Amino acid sequence: MLTFAPSSDSAAASTFVSTRATSERSPFIFVGERLWLDFVNCEQGVRRFDALRDFETMVRWLEAASLLDGERAAGIRRRAQQQPAGAAAALIDARRVRSALRSLAERGPMSDRIRAEGLIEINRVLGRSAGTRRVELRGDGTFIRSFVPVGDAFAGLVIPIVESAADALILGELVRVRRCADPRCQRVFYDNTKNGRRRWCDMSTCGNRAKAARHREKLKAH
Ligand SMILES: [Zn+2]
Repeated sequence: MLTFAPSSDSAAASTFVSTRATSERSPFIFVGERLWLDFVNCEQGVRRFDALRDFETMVRWLEAASLLDGERAAGIRRRAQQQPAGAAAALIDARRVRSALRSLAERGPMSDRIRAEGLIEINRVLGRSAGTRRVELRGDGTFIRSFVPVGDAFAGLVIPIVESAADALILGELVRVRRCADPRCQRVFYDNTKNGRRRWCDMSTCGNRAKAARHREKLKAH
């Protein structure tokens, strides 16, 4: 998932969109530069599509984020048909995790209390599931953690996401987590630019709108 910014500033804008950016038909957007931030942003995908609308859309997001391959996704879908109550509970839990991670992303940098609450939530999820942790090589040459749960298949679904948030705490990355400068946009991202001045979630949407607005202002001034 990590993309490395080329050195020239003019090229930096293009790195705002992750290499596995949304395909034409996918309603999901991956601009957070960190898995846990992409998960926070899954509430506001393309045309405000919420990936946690139902269990099936959640599985589709996990596939789009390369957390489930086709085979495991099919297994999860079968399990969801057999255990609809378990699937519904997993969805509700994922929403709870997402909302805790949003607090951590938006207010964690400023607040000891929010960081402590985020930590409790992270450990709640990490502590409940046993399984095998692996690192997988993806098609685009990047690496991602994966987790194959034993026992409750649903409980493990958000583990790699929560581990990504744990990494952010361990590596001290919260200070570089920002919210998009467009007040109408709720997306968050990890600012990995050299100068630490990335402002927009995505240059092709919010960044472009801001540029167009500045242009209009300039025309008015003349
Ligand atoms: Zn935005």
